[in-house]
Amino acid sequence: MAAHGFSTRGEGGLDSVPTVSHAATQLRAVFLPAVFLALAAPFVFAGPDSVPPVLSPGESSPREAAEAPIFAVLGGTLIDGTGAAPIPDSAIIFEGDRIRAAGRRRQIRIPPGAIAVDATDLTVIPGLIDMHVHLFAGTDLSLFLERGVTSVRNLGDVPLEEIVALRRDIDEGRVRGPRLFHCGLFVVSEPPLKEEIYPPDDLKRFMIMRSPADARGVVRRLVDAGADVVKVKTEMSVESLRALGAAAAEAGLPMTFDNGGETGSYDALAAFDAGARGVEHLSGIPFDEPATVEAVLKKMLAVGAYADPTLVVLDRTYARSRVEAREEFLRRFVAAGGSVIAGTDFPTRGLTAGISLHQELERLVGAGLSNKQALEAATGRAGRALGYPGLVGTIEAGAFADFLIIAGDPLKEIRNADRILRVFKGGIEFAPECNEAVTEPAPPSP
Ligand SMILES: [Zn+2]
Repeated sequence: MAAHGFSTRGEGGLDSVPTVSHAATQLRAVFLPAVFLALAAPFVFAGPDSVPPVLSPGESSPREAAEAPIFAVLGGTLIDGTGAAPIPDSAIIFEGDRIRAAGRRRQIRIPPGAIAVDATDLTVIPGLIDMHVHLFAGTDLSLFLERGVTSVRNLGDVPLEEIVALRRDIDEGRVRGPRLFHCGLFVVSEPPLKEEIYPPDDLKRFMIMRSPADARGVVRRLVDAGADVVKVKTEMSVESLRALGAAAAEAGLPMTFDNGGETGSYDALAAFDAGARGVEHLSGIPFDEPATVEAVLKKMLAVGAYADPTLVVLDRTYARSRVEAREEFLRRFVAAGGSVIAGTDFPTRGLTAGISLHQELERLVGAGLSNKQALEAATGRAGRALGYPGLVGTIEAGAFADFLIIAGDPLKEIRNADRILRVFKGGIEFAPECNEAVTEPAPPSP
């Protein structure tokens, strides 16, 4: 996790099972509260008076001149991604790559020397997260940032060295792109591996689990590669799935699956029983069997599983009636309090980096989510599903300074989330027209 620029996993989310051995999870108990307190405490106070004036750039005090500049985004309506009500006339203080405080302007102490960023009459939302992509070395990633997608979750199909190198290149600034979370390789089992699905020369694109006894070794390899999630693909015996789920839980990694259709070598119930807490494309659900659909719905709600429906790509893949069955499921899932996250399956043909996530948000609203639920599907809920609540997907003390300044209110019209004026990732602004970093890159946080 250190290579990813931070060294803690958050609480809750998919990995609600007890965890012990993941190196990063061992850190979180001691590291996380201390950092949150240290970051938040100096900048929040209760009283409305004595707000220090905001100085213009260059007017920083001598003490702070030697440190990373502090920025204050002022006057915007803040939708922080946590599910809280919008905050008018807000202040967001960030320094380096982290947010130090966010809330009502009159309740936030603005540090002397802070560089003001005016957001009056505008809206500030968290950077968006595309929860289902397949990136390759050489993919033009700048479009993600231009359309406000500051994080993506890569779900395999790419050789391990390639994705590890790509993340390193992004984290170290050699490649301009979104924060990259990934599954390493997706996992399949043998038997019943079908060679027509996975030709032998494609073996580098996935990991084969030859028996349930392989589970810990497979997960260890993924953890060593910096994986954030375990992704199970089409071919997987139920025994191997159970062993893999147990090993993933032990390592503190959330597990999601795509069984490739409505039926397969395992179904959604088996996957959730094995510990999966996410489902891609609403796969593994036999929509012609109402009793099983009902059981899956109940199971997902009971275990707090996330649905990543990817409706835009389903529209291109399935007959209308099959998509409608999934939409109906989604409607009932959401009405019962289920959590939906937004993913696209870029670069499937017809999809565009960044743009397709905005299409997905519109599509989610069309399928019955409120504008607020759709926005949270690509922000706070996505951050929780990643296993990093409070770090990505929200604007709050301690989180990465990944946020967008937009025109209009996305809670009134979800398309407003695409009226993007300014994009910040890790406290660095990206200007869409020139694709350049505008603010100075801050030194890495301690
Ligand atoms: Zn996919």
